Amino acid sequence: MKAFAYVNATNEKEAIAALSPSTRDSGASGTAADRSGRPFAALMGGGMDLLGLMKDYIISPDRVVSIRNLDQTIAAADGGLRIGAAVKIADLVEHAQARKMYPALITAAEDVGTPQIRNVGTVGGNIMQRPRCWYFRNEEFNCLKKGGSRCFAVEGENQYHAIFGDGPCHIVHPSSLAVPVIAYGGRLRVAGPNAAREIDAGQFFQMPNQNLYGETVLQPNEIITHVLLPAPGQRSATYEVRFKQSHDWPLAAASVNLVMSGATVKSARVVMGAVAPIPWRAPAAERVLAGKTVTEAIAIEAANAALAGARPMTGNAYKIQIAKTAVKRAIMAAARA
Ligand SMILES: Cc1cc2nc3c(=O)[nH]c(=O)nc-3n(C[C@H](O)[C@H](O)[C@H](O)COP(=O)(O)OP(=O)(O)OC[C@H]3O[C@@H](n4cnc5c(N)ncnc54)[C@H](O)[C@@H]3O)c2cc1C
Repeated sequence: MKAFAYVNATNEKEAIAALSPSTRDSGASGTAADRSGRPFAALMGGGMDLLGLMKDYIISPDRVVSIRNLDQTIAAADGGLRIGAAVKIADLVEHAQARKMYPALITAAEDVGTPQIRNVGTVGGNIMQRPRCWYFRNEEFNCLKKGGSRCFAVEGENQYHAIFGDGPCHIVHPSSLAVPVIAYGGRLRVAGPNAAREIDAGQFFQMPNQNLYGETVLQPNEIITHVLLPAPGQRSATYEVRFKQSHDWPLAAASVNLVMSGATVKSARVVMGAVAPIPWRAPAAERVLAGKTVTEAIAIEAANAALAGARPMTGNAYKIQIAKTAVKRAIMAAARA
């Protein structure tokens, strides 16, 4: 691993000052950032993902800025909750009010990895973790995302890759927490050298054709400081399908948030995970649910609508049925909640 300087920031200002005027290291060689000659700086929450990227030589920052000592509280705000980005996933899982208000988020959080991972990984780091694509993670493959000329998944092993999005890079977004955050209509508070801003979580992630070397709209010298969740709908749930239920990322996931009027769905948000380069909202499924009482037949119709536009690669058509099952079961679980 390349030698690096370490900064232990104790507040937002220190963290931002330690990042600037560096360029965040996205792992892309040959990018404007790489050619700039400026030092690379990387933020570190728990370091679960960052250290892996560094050990595998995917990124080689000159400076690591730890933000694990920034706000680690979860507090009531505007009828919802304000979650510090440095909150550990394990602490989120144990938070009584979060459990009561946001079952879809807590289900996703308690299924992240193992207890050790949840004890170290932070909410901000989970949302910002880099893709798990084995070509991206392997230093031998200079893939599109690292400044190369091709996505090796197209003709290679693509069983865990995207079934939506049409490339040119076919990663799936790895964050389990981002899926329910979007389903709840969450916002991300972001701080940088200029005034802090809030970004709709649904607008935060970017497709490869918008941002090939990164996954979000975050600027190199900005940090996520908080996740802001509004009051949830009356019913919500997450359902994830994993390989042998192991402590690995889901093969497909769905989070559903239903605003009810009695037994009728007034409005719905349906978001899928592990199917596209960003958490993938399913407006067609939401339209099926609006104005209906949830039954199994309606849930199946919504699941079919959610997957109608899927375009699998050579080895991952099986994910369509798995994602349908996740959507259907998330809807049924939400209706029972
Ligand atoms: C075996 C295994 C199984 C796993 N299973 C799952 C799973 O099922 N679901 C899932 O979601 N994850 C899973 N993970 C991933 C794990 O949850 C993440 O690696 C962890 O949450 C990252 O958090 P962290 O605080 O350690 O991030 P770090 O490693 O510190 O940071 C990750 C990235 O985010 C950036 N970053 C960190 N904090 C911020 C911030 N506040 N603002 C801006 N950028 C920031 C860093 O610069 C870095 O690029 C698994 C990991 C392992 C090893």
